[in-house]
Amino acid sequence: MTATASSSSIPLILYNSLTRAAEPFRPIDPANVRVYSCGPTVYNYAHIGNLRAYVFTDTLSRVLRWKGWPLTHIINITDVGHLTSDADAGDDKMEAAAKKSGQDIWAIAAHYTTAFKQNLHDLGIAEPTRFPLATEHVPQMIDFAKAIEAKHCYRLPDGLYFDVTTVPDYGRLARHQDDEGESRIDPVAGKRHPADFAIWRSSAPGENRQMEWDSPWGPGAPGWHLECSVMSEKLLGLPFDIHTGGIDHREIHHPNEIAQNQAFCGGREHGHHGHGASGANIWMHNNFLIDRTGKMSKSSGEFLTLQALMDRGFHPLAYRLMCLQAHYRSEMEFGWDGLAAAQVRLKRLVQTVEGLRTRADSPEKGDAAAYRERLDAALSDDLATPRALPVLDEMLGDKKLSPGVRLAALADFDATLGLQLTTLTRADLRTRPKTATLDDLEIEAQLVERRAARADKDFAKSDAIRDTLLAAGVEVMDGDQLGWDWKPVLPEG
Ligand code: AMP
Ligand code: ZN
Repeated sequence: MTATASSSSIPLILYNSLTRAAEPFRPIDPANVRVYSCGPTVYNYAHIGNLRAYVFTDTLSRVLRWKGWPLTHIINITDVGHLTSDADAGDDKMEAAAKKSGQDIWAIAAHYTTAFKQNLHDLGIAEPTRFPLATEHVPQMIDFAKAIEAKHCYRLPDGLYFDVTTVPDYGRLARHQDDEGESRIDPVAGKRHPADFAIWRSSAPGENRQMEWDSPWGPGAPGWHLECSVMSEKLLGLPFDIHTGGIDHREIHHPNEIAQNQAFCGGREHGHHGHGASGANIWMHNNFLIDRTGKMSKSSGEFLTLQALMDRGFHPLAYRLMCLQAHYRSEMEFGWDGLAAAQVRLKRLVQTVEGLRTRADSPEKGDAAAYRERLDAALSDDLATPRALPVLDEMLGDKKLSPGVRLAALADFDATLGLQLTTLTRADLRTRPKTATLDDLEIEAQLVERRAARADKDFAKSDAIRDTLLAAGVEVMDGDQLGWDWKPVLPEG
């Protein structure tokens, strides 16, 4: 089933962090919309906050495609250059991870890149056009740096630095640079301006880096900000349509990318809105997933991964649904109860769809066009997924529409929200904690025995079976309205 809203007349409005305004989206080339999303630093697994960023970009790319624009979408893999702080001091995160684990840095990068791609797959995130690696673009980064060096950079013993006073309006994207400016002053001696940043980091004499390239500024490694400017320029061309990242990137990484792009484009103003020289017409940022228990810092070593949620018995699409319930520009607080509620909501949806499927041959009745239009209206309003979800509920439950018509309309919701409701089954959602000692068949067998005991009014036996199941992480749900027999026991906290 294909779903496309190309006939849609509702203009897509997106919030542009650069202009601080919601703007109608006007593609530079309607035959090829170009989007670049800052990718993960692959020194560890992605935490579920990082993954929220890609649920957001996936919603964006699904909506663009659904509204009829062919898309080139890039998510880069940062396998070199990202330091342990956003400033220019500290180790490269990749080198630090290799040192700590005693492993080969290339093997670490490959391992976590594969894990990241698996996370995206589990969350139903459509594959981008390419996942370029930073390490595959170092010669192009050196060329880019050479092109801007004379007018925009200066040498220090530890590398080549970008002089932010050489471009107009440095930092106009950022919100907090003025009040948090102090924290940006890092201990690199010789910097002319606290916001100046390294675009090439030369290895210190005797420094033993696993990843190192020759350059006009001595052997070393590229600065982190350089890679995104270079990969977006090489793979999409400047200016392109949309650049995305989490709001942390709005403060330092993206202002620095913009400064490099301005330098590279030689101050030429181009692009539809006149701010194309920043590299992209629209800069979009997802807000953070926060976790009060502090388990969301990748560098602290203790953080929540998608696998950890799955190990606790949650389906990854329950997490996707949880993300869609919040607007991408709102903070979202993580909690196990919220995740459990999202999983129940997903089960409810799947059960409704399964019910419709059993009645799919009933005579066709009604027209779902109004729902498709409401879906379009919600998503076209800066991707308002929290408003799109109730439209889905309403459509599925609308008795004026025959089951077949509702199932056909579901294709539009799946194409945009990516919840896979046309294919997901109840069996898929019978997830269990990894620690559960019973498998599905054993659980079913115990439930059958318990039902028999209850029919015989042998409540002692039925209670004993319930307690055994509970000890194994399985909570029996007597009289559940939806007819689910059991659910995994919720983790503490
Ligand atoms: P990193 O792997 O640290 O480079 O981050 C990958 C992406 O996740 C970037 O777009 C970050 O801005 C984003 N990000 C980091 N932490 C969070 C969070 N807690 N919630 C949402 N997005 C985040
Ligand atoms: Zn980036």
